[in-house]
Amino acid sequence: MDKSENNSASLLQKSIITFRVTMLTGSLTGKLRTKIIIVLLLLLIIPDQISAQKKQKQIAPPVSDDFYESLLVLSSPQMEGREAGKRGSMMASDYIASKMKFNGLQPFGDLTSEQSRKKQERRSWFQNFKALTFRDYRDSMLLTGVTTTTRADTASLRNVLGIINGKDRSKNIIIGAHYDHLGIRDGKTFFGADDNASGVAGMLALAAKWSASGIKPPCNLIFAAWAAEEKGLIGSSYFVQQKDPGLNKILLVINMDMIAGNAPEDTLHRTVSIGTLPESANLRRIAIKANRSRSEPFELDLWDVVGHWGSDYACFSTTGIPVMTFFSGFSDYYHTPDDTMDRTDLPKMENILKLVNDCLFQVADSLRTR
Ligand SMILES: [Zn+2]
Repeated sequence: MDKSENNSASLLQKSIITFRVTMLTGSLTGKLRTKIIIVLLLLLIIPDQISAQKKQKQIAPPVSDDFYESLLVLSSPQMEGREAGKRGSMMASDYIASKMKFNGLQPFGDLTSEQSRKKQERRSWFQNFKALTFRDYRDSMLLTGVTTTTRADTASLRNVLGIINGKDRSKNIIIGAHYDHLGIRDGKTFFGADDNASGVAGMLALAAKWSASGIKPPCNLIFAAWAAEEKGLIGSSYFVQQKDPGLNKILLVINMDMIAGNAPEDTLHRTVSIGTLPESANLRRIAIKANRSRSEPFELDLWDVVGHWGSDYACFSTTGIPVMTFFSGFSDYYHTPDDTMDRTDLPKMENILKLVNDCLFQVADSLRTR
């Protein structure tokens, strides 16, 4: 049944009830009859208001239809393995920006002119920056401004950033995932479907759902696709170093890096790992509760991110910003040309996104009651 059918059914139901009320009260005298009718009509209206409020509180989680296309496009041969600084990753960033725009987000990248710098408006989808790339160590990059004695070239990179403005614009939750991968090596394309087209497709699907709900979140939601994670967490490092004046307070960073794979020992495909700071007991409680409420709960592997640098969360957690980093396990295809779309576990990814969506909602909702 679609929404309009639902509405007309409930209208019909209401008129029938109102008619019955009028019949019943027909024998009563003037004032008393009016009072009874008013009370009964209020009883008809109030439950509707309550259910509307309840509806407002829920954001539908993404299903596979919502992330299939992005996963397919980002892990396609045309993206050439999305190596940072190369053509494929530029194409991927263009695609991500176009999806953010299509999904109704506002751009949250660089300010577009000196004049707008003062006004704090008009931004691009991209946060552009440069990094040094080392010929002899093709897996590493350093942000420019770092002194080095080694010969290095400069690569142009960009993070992609979109925002849904919240009621309280002084607070932010970031939902991020890196979009780069390993490129083409020895003639072989590293497609990076699980690592990390999955995280980016998940991030875009969450953005689409929150945007389409039309509900203003309690704080800003910033959706981020980080560049050059594989070269040493370069994009997220740059973002943190910028201390953007529009970013006063980051309450939480949700990071998704590889959410569509299974470790070989995870034979039932039920393991999800979530890393947090040790002091974030509240976030672990939220994750456990959200997981328990599922019909088929995951086996949660909760771990402490201190001392780990495995993904973009580290640039935030080392500065004391709370993080939740979601990961589905190292598959046999990790960092091989076999990390392809057909080997991703779409039902698992869908269920992880439900969990992420629940956690995001719970954290955002807790702001309402503060
Ligand atoms: Zn990765």
